Amino acid sequence: MKIILLGASGSGKGTIAKKISADFKVPQISTGDIFRDIIKRKSTLGEQVKSYINYGKLVPDDITLKVLRQRLKRVDCQNGFILDGFPRNIDQAKSLSKISDIDIVLNIELPLEELEKRLVNRRICAKCGDIDSTKYSGFTGYCRKCGTKLFQRDDDKPEIIKTRLEVYKNQVSPLINFYGDKVQTVSNSASPDETYARVKTFLLNLEAKA
Ligand code: ADP
Ligand code: ZN
Repeated sequence: MKIILLGASGSGKGTIAKKISADFKVPQISTGDIFRDIIKRKSTLGEQVKSYINYGKLVPDDITLKVLRQRLKRVDCQNGFILDGFPRNIDQAKSLSKISDIDIVLNIELPLEELEKRLVNRRICAKCGDIDSTKYSGFTGYCRKCGTKLFQRDDDKPEIIKTRLEVYKNQVSPLINFYGDKVQTVSNSASPDETYARVKTFLLNLEAKA
């Protein structure tokens, strides 16, 4: 199954992607994660990528596409994938359509104020990728799953968050028109479990049809 996940930063799309990946045995491909990894490994490319990410700007399409193409060539993508954070604009979507077809576009929605709140409070485990919030009861600053100290992403700071959400609104919304009736919109205002239940229903229906 080839899935695109759309949703602003903080919409919960990363968490949903992880659940789909486990249930449907397809890899989660997050261009943001790939970029953060490139930055960690220190190179000229890493420095370049960092100069965009740390200001909440999109990494240029030529770099992004090169990285994505390489990732999609790996064997684990044979039965499909979940794209989390790609495409971010129409040009990326058009380029993707030349590389692969897509079965479904899941659009995860959340009101803007809620997005801002979630991002400011978001903390992440560097080891297992678990996402936590300072607002969860029982928050300790350490990962619930593996005990590693949680960190705040450099771009999860209020000024940068504003830029990222602005960038999202301008560039990603047109994608919903681009993909037309492939799009299924799911609100994530309810509990994460309820949201995922709805997502799963869409995917199971799709699988049954195939
Ligand atoms: P979020 O969705 O929370 O903003 P991501 O991890 O998806 O976080 O992306 C972090 C940053 O990585 C983005 O702000 C952008 O700078 C860069 N990035 C990720 N995916 C893309 C993409 N498809 N095109 C351009 N830049 C990207
Ligand atoms: Zn962890």
